[in-house]
Amino acid sequence: MTVLEVKNLKKIYRPRFGGNQVQALSCVNFSVEEGEYVAIMGESGSGKTTLLNIIGLADTATSGQYFLDGKNVESASDAKQAELRNRYFGYVLQDYALLEAETVYENVSIPLIFSKKKSKSFQSLVRAALEAVGMENHIKTQVSKLSGGQKQRVAIARAIVNEPKIILADEPTGALDSKTGEQITACFRKLCTEKGITVIMVTHDKQVAECCDSIFQISDGKLQK
Ligand code: ADP
Ligand code: MG
Repeated sequence: MTVLEVKNLKKIYRPRFGGNQVQALSCVNFSVEEGEYVAIMGESGSGKTTLLNIIGLADTATSGQYFLDGKNVESASDAKQAELRNRYFGYVLQDYALLEAETVYENVSIPLIFSKKKSKSFQSLVRAALEAVGMENHIKTQVSKLSGGQKQRVAIARAIVNEPKIILADEPTGALDSKTGEQITACFRKLCTEKGITVIMVTHDKQVAECCDSIFQISDGKLQK
């Protein structure tokens, strides 16, 4: 089943005051199957983050079409888009974006505060998310005490605690050594196989990309398989 499809996607950044406009995406056609693990590769500035932001409904395309589970997204209201964003996506970033002074529990429970889930269920949802990434023994640890690989696993737990359909990962192994990077790619693979989560990962690293089901290359704002 196709979970996500974009057609003829184009993104132009127009400066508010003078300067040149930038065409970040010129014509992107892209579809992803449910439970697929997809890599997007491309040089710095090629439009990878722009594409992830549009897919994650954090930004809008200049033109083109976007379908989630076959339903057209760009015509949805802002409120509907916000609901889709919460229901469909979990984000993982290169620098983890965790609150260093807080515990693992506090970090992973943050998305639940913005969800409709009952606070009574928080503890068990956080625990389940941490078990899925093998970090359940660190639930009370302060994030600053963890290694880079452990921090990224906590960030993945935070991304899945709301049970999203799709994880969007922007260079998730970029700050890690290759062995730790392998653990992170294995962690994503496990989420695809065991939970049917779809993973779309941007990476610079060919070895990391080769762990995926399919690899897309982006250059000059165009995407190719
Ligand atoms: P990548 O993630 O592949 O490094 P980006 O998607 O961040 O690439 O950027 C693609 C192009 O769009 C680059 O030329 C970048 O400078 C430009 N760009 C990205 N974000 C903005 C923005 N908010 N305003 C203007 N230009 C931008
Ligand atoms: Mg980027």
